[in-house]
Amino acid sequence: MEIIKLLDAVRQYFDEGNTSSYDFRKTKLLLLKKIILTQEQQLYAALYTDLKKSPEECWATEIGLVIAELNVAINNLHCWMAPKRVKTNMINLPSSSKILTEPLGVALIIGAWNYPFYLLINPLIGAIAAGNCVVLKPSEFAAATADVMKNIIEACFTPNHVLYMPGDGAVVVPAMMNNFTFDHVFYTGSTAVGKIIYTMAAQRLVPVTLELGGKSPCVVECDANIQVAAKRIVVTKFNNCGQICVAPDYILVHHSCKDALVAALKKYIVQFFGTDVQTSYSYGKIINEKQFNRIQQYLLQGKIVHGGNINRDTLYIEPTIIEAVTMQMPIMQEEIFGPILPILIYHTKDEALKIIAKNKNPLSFYLFTNNTKNEKQWLKDVAFGGGCINNASWHLTNHHLPFGGRGLSGTGSYHGKFSFDIFSHKKAVMKTPTWFNPAIKFPPFNGRLKLFKWLIR
Ligand code: NAD
Repeated sequence: MEIIKLLDAVRQYFDEGNTSSYDFRKTKLLLLKKIILTQEQQLYAALYTDLKKSPEECWATEIGLVIAELNVAINNLHCWMAPKRVKTNMINLPSSSKILTEPLGVALIIGAWNYPFYLLINPLIGAIAAGNCVVLKPSEFAAATADVMKNIIEACFTPNHVLYMPGDGAVVVPAMMNNFTFDHVFYTGSTAVGKIIYTMAAQRLVPVTLELGGKSPCVVECDANIQVAAKRIVVTKFNNCGQICVAPDYILVHHSCKDALVAALKKYIVQFFGTDVQTSYSYGKIINEKQFNRIQQYLLQGKIVHGGNINRDTLYIEPTIIEAVTMQMPIMQEEIFGPILPILIYHTKDEALKIIAKNKNPLSFYLFTNNTKNEKQWLKDVAFGGGCINNASWHLTNHHLPFGGRGLSGTGSYHGKFSFDIFSHKKAVMKTPTWFNPAIKFPPFNGRLKLFKWLIR
């Protein structure tokens, strides 16, 4: 099979040790940065075609974040790669111990369409920094961006170092994973496809990182600064037309401040996107008709209190606020992944926790409150991947924080040093001098139980 020949060439390139030196990795990261910057205009044009993103949005949420990640990797690579000496416990003295960091081998990275550049290239940076060979599978649904990325990758890497593999995921990915043993699979996308990836990987015991989705709750307490909360929720929820994995999926607001919050949300939607949102420079479009049809169904559930307009020809769905939804409706059972924001009220915290528990382990959790004690308790009470207090989604832009889900929203986390670690093996090595060989360590062991109990505990 042609595809397997290509993968074998990648394996051979890795096995020959071509990618492991510091100089090689750093040169490639610097080259990647340079080529991305030379393709900046092409990326703006492609991301506009795929998702109607403005250049400013492209920079803030895709290209700029990738450049920032590259800078972190380039500046820290030497330190990340260095062997780490660690302590040795008493029974092993006078041995010494260290951890060597090695590349895993050949990694498969599978991207999603909503941030098609960022979600594919960001993990690539960690994989290259860690000295791996990589197979890159972009989403077929952001075709214009996939074409520009192909040019970037082919200008930076030989195909036996980074192989670019576009195409229908349901065909290309099984063709690779069922016939070739990767050393790691890094997948971003839906939970449903995540299960398929996990199953295929398990057949060959391939470790995985799964960056999945879910319903991320946003709680607004009665003591929150409502204006600040509304402003920050609106900017995150309606960015990229709500097609953002860390968007607040729904709002849980204390009944006492619901009216004030809804009024403020409406105000900021108009302030940010104007009264004719369709013509807004800052508002995107739904990726394709399949997603448009799916999201449109949610407009029939609950009661629309703001927005609700659509245009199939331009794949436009207005920022929409919906009230009076029930937990039985699909809108409260599925990840919305679109510009529709359900508002639910709660009277007691227990009531709110029960609602959150219906979609457990969300990728993100957001809490708006001015009470620190309250905040601590919420953080304890909800099991989620990552999140923010008095903000929404910005945690993912801090490379000092690990980004990832838990359980149904994913496994493993990346960004910054965490990306390097995901694509590295930590090789543990103990070195013992030959001059110290106490008899107690060798059989016969009869009568040493008391001594062992004293030494080993
Ligand atoms: P998707 O699962 O349809 O596709 C993602 C990738 O998987 C694509 O490259 C696609 O080609 C491939 N794929 C599709 N079907 C496949 C199959 N049967 N076998 C193997 N590969 C297959 O996901 P999507 O619609 O592109 O993305 C939306 C979802 O992704 C949402 O749930 C969202 O929350 C999640 N997401 C998560 C993150 C994160 O960082 N956690 C980021 C973006 C999106």
